Amino acid sequence: MNKSKVFIALMIFGFVGSQYTSIAQTQDTLKGQMQMYQTNKRSNNLIAMNQTNKREFQPLPYAYDALEPSIDKLTVEIHYSKHHKAYFDNFITAIKGTEMESMDIKDIFSNISKFPVAVRNNGGGYFNHTFYWEGMKASGGDSPTGKLSDAITKSFTSFDEFKKQFSDAGKTRFGSGWAWLSLDDKGKLFISSSPNQDNPLMDVSEKKGIPLLVMDVWEHAYYLKYQNKRADYIDAFWNIVNWEEVARRYENGLKSLILK
Ligand code: MN
Repeated sequence: MNKSKVFIALMIFGFVGSQYTSIAQTQDTLKGQMQMYQTNKRSNNLIAMNQTNKREFQPLPYAYDALEPSIDKLTVEIHYSKHHKAYFDNFITAIKGTEMESMDIKDIFSNISKFPVAVRNNGGGYFNHTFYWEGMKASGGDSPTGKLSDAITKSFTSFDEFKKQFSDAGKTRFGSGWAWLSLDDKGKLFISSSPNQDNPLMDVSEKKGIPLLVMDVWEHAYYLKYQNKRADYIDAFWNIVNWEEVARRYENGLKSLILK
C-alpha cells in the first residue's frame, strides 16, 4: 500500500469514527434530556409534592388571619406552626439515615406499606397539610371554571351535587381524617375520604389517585371556632377554596396521565 492509499484509508476511518462518536453524543444528550423530562414530569405534577421533596418546612402561603372568618386566625396559627410543623419534624426524623431520605415523596407514598408507620403518619401529615394550605386562599370560594368545571358537572351532574358529596365525605369520616377530590388512572374524578394522615397516593389507600382538593376534618382544624359543629366548618370551607389552584392541579394531573 502506498502512502496516499494509507492516507485515504485513515481519512475514511477517521470520518466513520467521528460519525459514531457524534451519534453516541446525540444519544447521550437525548437520554439526559429524557431523564430531566421524567424528573420534571414527576416533581412538577404538584407544587406541594415538589416542595415536600425539598424537605424544608414551607412558609404558609398567606397570613394567619387570611382565611377569616371561615377559619379563624388562632386555628390557622396553631394548626400550621404546631401540628403541621410537628408532622414535618417527625417525618424528617423518621426518614433520617434511610433510603427514603433521597426518595421522591410520591415514591415513598406508593410504597408506604413497606415503611414504618411513623413515615406513613408523619409523611402523610406533612404532605397533606401543605396540600391543604395551598388549596385555600383569602376570599376564594367562587366556583371552578373551564375544563375542571366541565369535568365536575360530568362526574357529579352539577357543582352543587359535587359540593354535597364532598361535604358528606367529610361529615361521615369517623374520627380524624380528610375528604379528597382526586383523579383516577382513567382521568375520571372521584371523591373519597381517608383516615388519620393517609392520602390517595398511598398504596394502602382504598381508592388510589392524584389528589386535587383536600379538606382537613381533624378536630384541630375547626374546634376553636366551631367546637363540635364539623358541618358548619365544612360549609365555611367552600368560601375559601382556591379554585385556580385546583384547576392547575387538574390540568397537571391529566398531563401526567397522558405522559405515563
Ligand atoms: Mn390538620
